[in-house]
Amino acid sequence: MWNLLESIGASAALFLTAQFFHGMLLRTLREKKPHLFERPAWNQLILYGVGIYYGLLGAYFIYRAQQGFEYGIYTDMLLNIILIFNLLSTTKKPANIAVVLIILFKFLLAPNALDQVVYAAFILAYHLICMEISYLKTSFWKKFLFAKLSMIPFMLLYLHQKVPLSYDVTTLPDWVSFFAVSFFVSFVLFQAILYVDSSNKMAYELKRSALRDPLTNLANYRHFETLFTDYFLNAKHHLTPLGLIIFDIDYFKQVNDTYGHQAGNTILSLLSVSLKNLSLPKGTVAARIGGEEFAILVPQATLVETYELAEKIRQMVAETPFPFLSEQTRLTISCGVASFDQTNGAYFDTKTQLFETADQALYIAKEHGRNQVAALFNRTEQVENSTISP
Ligand code: GH3
Ligand code: MG
Ligand code: MG
Repeated sequence: MWNLLESIGASAALFLTAQFFHGMLLRTLREKKPHLFERPAWNQLILYGVGIYYGLLGAYFIYRAQQGFEYGIYTDMLLNIILIFNLLSTTKKPANIAVVLIILFKFLLAPNALDQVVYAAFILAYHLICMEISYLKTSFWKKFLFAKLSMIPFMLLYLHQKVPLSYDVTTLPDWVSFFAVSFFVSFVLFQAILYVDSSNKMAYELKRSALRDPLTNLANYRHFETLFTDYFLNAKHHLTPLGLIIFDIDYFKQVNDTYGHQAGNTILSLLSVSLKNLSLPKGTVAARIGGEEFAILVPQATLVETYELAEKIRQMVAETPFPFLSEQTRLTISCGVASFDQTNGAYFDTKTQLFETADQALYIAKEHGRNQVAALFNRTEQVENSTISP
């Protein structure tokens, strides 16, 4: 009896530890490399990784079930992997991969062919049942209950096949207590994974909302400042250029006055979507640094390259049909460009100087009639605006 309790405790603790590490690894990865989660290929790879991880945990449970008399406990724990991933994951990939691995390991570890085939069929059938249950349009906890209840006949058959246990009335209390403990353990594991998942999501959302502008979903001013410092120090250290574009929407007050503030907001948000759809160079950061003012950091870009990118953005905006505005009242922007390009002599002591130079260039673009790009080599000397080809 104590042996059984010990096995339940040990296997549940192992499962909880595995869940904790799973949560911790994904959280760290999301914090350190958030862009990976935006790429479909990486997302797939992460799902494969999760499936393999729990497949290996399943293999350990199979190994433990081979020894001693606690096979019932370890097999029950193994079924929890299938149950949890089918019910909690939006995609079936991790569950499918874990099941394939579990069956493979069973073929490697089981003592005889009958054991292997019966077990494989047993695992596969339970996986399919859980999958079907996960598609039911009912509450989460009802699904959990159905999945647990459908496990009972499987476990009875499995245990009966392992040792010819009688199903008579005298053994009924043993069965009832076994399944009561099994329900309780699954419930705890479920609660734990829900807790880890929701606290991870909350931490991620909090961090994200502290760095993003809610209207445009671009980096906010605070985040821009942090990244600007990092990029500037990096450029200075590695002798690589760093381009900066500051752009401002022309006559935006008129748009607001004519169509209302809400229409203005819609346009700001759509502008950011168009900006994201432009294929910007790798590592480029777009931020909303004021009401209708934006900044773009372009690592490795010389003044001419930054100018060309600004011109591309200006043209894109001028050609995009925004709602509310007619062909005659097209939205336009003015851009100021500067680049910290020390090998070509455009050197700035501080990032503020670089920012002020781009801002001065923006002022020139506005002065020269708007809907154009102006670039400054340094804070006093103007080298070009959109009328001069770079
Ligand atoms: P220009 O830059 O070409 O000199 O003219 P402008 O009319 O764009 O410039 P100004 O600085 O006079 O006005 C900026 C306007 O941007 C003021 C305000 O109505 C609008 N604005 C600023 N922030 C927001 C915002 O978050 N939402 C909306 N809808 N409008 C905003
Ligand atoms: Mg403006
Ligand atoms: Mg402005």
